[in-house]
Amino acid sequence: MKFASCVIAASLFASACVSDEDIDPATSSQSQGLGSETRPKHEHPMKGDKGEAGKGGHTTAISYHGGPVMTGTPSIHYIWYGNWSGNTATTILTSFAQGIGGSPYEQINATYYNASNVHVSGAVSYAGSTNDNYSHGTSLTDAQIEQVVAATNPTDTNAIYMVLTSADVTASSGFCTQYCGWHTDATINGRDIKYAFIGNPDRCPSACEEQTTSPNGNAGADGMASIIAHESEEAISDPDLNAWYDRQGAENADKCAWTFGNESTASNGSKYNQTFGGRNWLIQRNWNASTQGCQRVLGSTN
Ligand SMILES: [Zn+2]
Repeated sequence: MKFASCVIAASLFASACVSDEDIDPATSSQSQGLGSETRPKHEHPMKGDKGEAGKGGHTTAISYHGGPVMTGTPSIHYIWYGNWSGNTATTILTSFAQGIGGSPYEQINATYYNASNVHVSGAVSYAGSTNDNYSHGTSLTDAQIEQVVAATNPTDTNAIYMVLTSADVTASSGFCTQYCGWHTDATINGRDIKYAFIGNPDRCPSACEEQTTSPNGNAGADGMASIIAHESEEAISDPDLNAWYDRQGAENADKCAWTFGNESTASNGSKYNQTFGGRNWLIQRNWNASTQGCQRVLGSTN
């Protein structure tokens, strides 16, 4: 499958193909999701749409637009949707969520701050998981994904609730054709809840998986780790879609999507660029707001 670089963002803001207009994703484009959700969700682009640093072109600064960031220690909640029995993903990705907080990689996100100059801490905690046994079948609309989150009675406004779908499940608004994942927020039971959709890229390796032999011997899970990293750092630096993004509407992780920096080779021949939580990972780089460039870990030049 081939993907034009403009297609992904075109479905969102129609802005990635526009070079000189200042478009605010919080006020442009169509509404998504349930009733009160009028802002667009923010999508993880597919492999054909590398972040600007990977294209070798000009770089656009990311800037602050006044909204909140997630301070303190944000937590990650997993919602395992579909059939995950016998899949090592549940073990692998739990290690990932338990290990990413405070890592040299996550510290890149601490370059972001709010209107009171309080910085993101770089800490993240893993809060636990719930299971959803196909409550809405195998093709989920955006509204149904919000319902899956709402069914867990989320209460933590400093958390990211992640819907992780098994490979037999798709998201009808464009998983594998428009995006690999996304994050947004919605008012659920009177609270501003941040949540994300993370699809299993075993469904479409050419679009959403960097390698089919992977450091933890499960290409789908290892592919999801990079998408989880992408969506979590965006949710933390731009939880309500009104804080940190560039003039083209790209959030921090978008600017480095599908770029990895210095890679090492694992014993099974796969590539990795991070080690934490007792495992190796190949996860995309993130944008440093201070240096205005992609980094693999805080301070790295590769
Ligand atoms: Zn993104």
